[in-house]
Amino acid sequence: MRAYVAAPRGFCAGVVRAIETVEFALQRFPPPIYVRKQIVHNRSVVKEFESRGVIFIDDLVEVPPGSLVIFSAHGVSPEVRAEAQARGLRTVDATCPLVTKVHAEARRFASRGFTIILIGHQGHEEVVGTVGEVPGHIQVIENADQIEALVVPDPDRVVCLTQTTLSVDETDSLRRLLGSKFPRMVLPAKEDICYATQNRQNAVKKLVGIGIDVLLVMGSPNSSNSRRLCDVAKSLGITAYLVDCPEDIQAHWLEGAERVGITAGASVPELLVQRAVGLLEQFGAQVEEVPGPAEEILFSLPEEVSSSLPNLSGSESVA
Ligand code: SF4
Repeated sequence: MRAYVAAPRGFCAGVVRAIETVEFALQRFPPPIYVRKQIVHNRSVVKEFESRGVIFIDDLVEVPPGSLVIFSAHGVSPEVRAEAQARGLRTVDATCPLVTKVHAEARRFASRGFTIILIGHQGHEEVVGTVGEVPGHIQVIENADQIEALVVPDPDRVVCLTQTTLSVDETDSLRRLLGSKFPRMVLPAKEDICYATQNRQNAVKKLVGIGIDVLLVMGSPNSSNSRRLCDVAKSLGITAYLVDCPEDIQAHWLEGAERVGITAGASVPELLVQRAVGLLEQFGAQVEEVPGPAEEILFSLPEEVSSSLPNLSGSESVA
């Protein structure tokens, strides 16, 4: 058996920034550090931070007034920011800048009287945050049936934005359908599906191109971009398994497979990939990496935790 490891895979710039934000907060601020929602959608990352005292909460009411709370990489709505302020919380925003870009687009188009059609998964934290930027001006769709049912105030003033972690191919097809329904529909100047999502999906297509029989995708069940990697393989006729931790890999999945692909969603630490690769080697696999484009994007840390600021004590405001 041969194992082909995709590149690029694993951490993207937004995830690195979010994780480093928590790391720096742990170093700079007195405990406890609260994080609203999972900082990134990966169970092992969250567990690791929990073991170091970080408290993950779903609702700001769980945070005592005056405490420090970090907003996750998926972004928050203005309502959440206002609630934090009203409760006297100190905040650090680890929203990925590429999510912030979509928020800004939504606000800009809404202020010009456009209806925003957001392709995305209803209830996903990123979608909730984007919708919260422009309530009353935005409708979320995730399939063709919902396009049929769409009614907008002015069909000539419609813009299509998307969640950052969707399947590129499925989104293209939904955008084409929307374009047929709203011929004057506008698209943002720059694609909303982020570079990391696109690169990881292209890397899966490359593995499929070299003839893998099965694909293992490292990623947690609530990770949108990881699940989309499975979808890409499945849409090309390849069996794919989403694997939260390497110990979940079942030997029978690999029975009869001569070529096994392996990749990881944007929130998955490389350590987990290497442990999975080690298991494949134990099953007798010869492992090789399939190269892809280098990713050199880096985002600067939120200024509240960047090194240019002095250490802050518990009573000082950081945001
Ligand atoms: S997957 Fe894309 S949008 Fe999400 S954190 Fe990474 S770079 Fe940002």
